Amino acid sequence: MNYTVEEKESFMREALKEAEIALEHDEIPIGCVIVKDGEIIGRGHNAREELQRAVMHAEIMAIENANLSEESWRLLDCTLFVTIEPCVMCSGAIGLARIPNVVYGAKNQKFGAAGSLYDILTDERLNHRVEVETGVLESECAAIIQDFFRNRRKK
Ligand SMILES: [Zn+2]
Repeated sequence: MNYTVEEKESFMREALKEAEIALEHDEIPIGCVIVKDGEIIGRGHNAREELQRAVMHAEIMAIENANLSEESWRLLDCTLFVTIEPCVMCSGAIGLARIPNVVYGAKNQKFGAAGSLYDILTDERLNHRVEVETGVLESECAAIIQDFFRNRRKK
């Protein structure tokens, strides 16, 4: 992954814009973009409420989007940027799509499968291993989700 800090932050900002879309639908604000050769080829946000689909996490939507634009299930040479650490399902999907690089903003201590609860992306028993970087725009990525839960508790 050869992106500069500025480039990584700007892609993470795009992922945050996707999280804002989820927020408009009053759902957990998580966003994702998939980048190839410096271009965004897939975007996604959590759309469980919007689409009433249990598996429609930000990463799944972005992978489906990128598969369509690439006309390929393999997302080689791509980097996936997501605001929050991927869950078990999404970490599995990242492997299935052969995505080699993942950058996420904030950890998810309750559901994270890329270092917190499990370490699916780097588990040596699996044949696909992913280079993972964390902490890009961490406070912004964590804040949007913390605000969401704080507001929801108030309601
Ligand atoms: Zn997920």
